[in-house]
Amino acid sequence: MTHLNSIRKNMNFLLSVLLFATGLFLNPLSAKASGTTVYNGVDYSSVYDFDYYISHYPDIAQFFSNDPQGALEHFVIFGISEGRIGREAACDATPAATDSDPAAVSGPLSGMTVILDAGHGGRDPGCIRNGVYEKNVNLSIVLKTADMLRAQGATVLLTREGDSFVSLDYRYCFENLHPEAVFISIHCNALSGNNSFSGMNAYCNTASCAGSFDLAACVYSGVLFATGAKDRGIRTDSNLRVNLYSVIPSVLLETGYLSSRTEFPLLTSSDYQDLIAEGIANGLTIYRSLHP
Ligand SMILES: [Zn+2]
Repeated sequence: MTHLNSIRKNMNFLLSVLLFATGLFLNPLSAKASGTTVYNGVDYSSVYDFDYYISHYPDIAQFFSNDPQGALEHFVIFGISEGRIGREAACDATPAATDSDPAAVSGPLSGMTVILDAGHGGRDPGCIRNGVYEKNVNLSIVLKTADMLRAQGATVLLTREGDSFVSLDYRYCFENLHPEAVFISIHCNALSGNNSFSGMNAYCNTASCAGSFDLAACVYSGVLFATGAKDRGIRTDSNLRVNLYSVIPSVLLETGYLSSRTEFPLLTSSDYQDLIAEGIANGLTIYRSLHP
């Protein structure tokens, strides 16, 4: 990890110099792009503000104070993964997320903040089987889970509430802007040419955040117990970005295989999705008792 960090720092420096040179010699008018927040077609305005980024990081200002496009590029390529914050109270500004939960009630999860992340969305359908898009199954499970957790007192934040595209960068940035929260990402799996393989598994990265294992174990056990799904285990060295770059407890749950002839009808049924939601709520209650 130390070696990787050193490589990253060197790469960071080299890119900084390169971007600086590019801004200086090839794009002398870039300063006029002050306020730009779009990089490679993705709008980072909800998590990035040039003036904030420059004023909070002297090393960035040194290279990019007159180069807004370069600063944005640095934020996207390096800043996010380094845990740098791109703007103040960034998540308050995003329409995709709900930061307040006025309907919160008293219950076993009172005082707990849970980010629910429906995998894929918008132009990214995830896996597709029998005309069913994974993104829609994920969202349905997330919305049911959100209702259940709120009914038990949790504050619930969503990375998406509808069928919108949300980048992976946005998702882990959103995690790290909420240090008080735990993060649960919901997905379905698929396997090509095999309709008998089924089961559930979970991913976390205990090197990024040691607390992720407790969260993964509690949530995964809760859902396994509630659904009776086949246990395919927990991986603790996930390199999925929502796990790898997260500094808060984070788990990605593969709830089952849409390619499985036995799990497809389950995953697409409202009753089974309710069981998954119930399992997550039960798991979080156990987690809460371990981490009051
Ligand atoms: Zn997926």
